[in-house]
Amino acid sequence: MFCPVCKTEYRAGFAMCSDCNVQLVNELPAETETESEYVEYEELLATHSPSDRALLKSILDAEGITYFFQGEYSTIYLFQALPVRLMVNKDQVARAAELIKDLDLSFSLGGPDNPAVNEDVDK
Ligand SMILES: [Zn+2]
Repeated sequence: MFCPVCKTEYRAGFAMCSDCNVQLVNELPAETETESEYVEYEELLATHSPSDRALLKSILDAEGITYFFQGEYSTIYLFQALPVRLMVNKDQVARAAELIKDLDLSFSLGGPDNPAVNEDVDK
């Protein structure tokens, strides 16, 4: 099942896209021939911060970057132990990295007790 709006793939049993509130379809209409059929993703960064994710989304959406957050809708919200990983279309990774390099994000590199993960820390 696929969301016709955001193109997210859902497992059987889902009827609505939780993001777009639209009904899922069995197959996405073929917009392009074979080009966008398969997208290879590469991990760009990992973060614990929901505000980072919101910021990244707005930037990547505005630039038309193909991406998704791996683990965003898993048990991550319950345990906060694992970072959500930002996966970007391999062809666009360099551009995405360029876009976000100046942002003040709290990339999670030190684990859940990394102080940068929590609140803004004075530098
Ligand atoms: Zn959707």
